[in-house]
Amino acid sequence: MDKREFLKLTSFAGAAILSGPLSSLASSSSSVSGQPAFADPKAPFVLPALPYGYDALEPNIDKLTMEIHHDKHHAAYVKNLNEAIAGSAFASLSLEEILKKVTDKDKPAIRNNGGGHYNHSLFWTLLSPTKQTPSEKLKTAISQSFGSWEAFQTQFNDAAKTVFGSGWAWLIVTPGKKLAIIKTPNQDNPLMHNIVKDTGTPILALDVWEHAYYLKHQNKRPEYIEAFWNAVNWDEVEKRYNAAS
Ligand code: MN
Repeated sequence: MDKREFLKLTSFAGAAILSGPLSSLASSSSSVSGQPAFADPKAPFVLPALPYGYDALEPNIDKLTMEIHHDKHHAAYVKNLNEAIAGSAFASLSLEEILKKVTDKDKPAIRNNGGGHYNHSLFWTLLSPTKQTPSEKLKTAISQSFGSWEAFQTQFNDAAKTVFGSGWAWLIVTPGKKLAIIKTPNQDNPLMHNIVKDTGTPILALDVWEHAYYLKHQNKRPEYIEAFWNAVNWDEVEKRYNAAS
């Protein structure tokens, strides 16, 4: 079996899991191949299963929001990305390669849906059904970068609150191996070298599109940001921090 056939097979298995009962969603990892969602996937891209049930993040993020966010919004980014790159120079690239190559001269659908697929695949893994606290090692590293843990949270909250319209707040490791907080509009992300000014490796991300919180919090984005802190998967943040620094 060559790589292409294997990927097609795993794509099919992914679709089967997604249409299955919730219990299979809850017990599956973020990727049907057993690898993280970012293991250099190639087109056609596949919607990764949530690594927990729709209701697993209650009460911090509600079940209906998760269901619509994953099954409708994220699924649409995947479908539209596959359509946008078909027959183009992007068709043979991995998702990360697409994000690093895309410019504002390319079809906007590639930038928007490529970012949408990457950002959401990452976001699901950064949320945890059980309340976690960061390890002392991670907490110290972050606190030293921003002055204190409280200063870090305040700066991240400010970034998230001040995204005008739709976008994301990020904690990244910069190319100079420093921690930084940035925000991006729409589905732009810090991998887009040709588009975003402050690039780096994202280790924490928060979706502040209204579709991420409107059903439960309506216009009160700060309430949603506060709830988000109760649902951060700090183990995953630390894993990404260690890999990037
Ligand atoms: Mn979203």
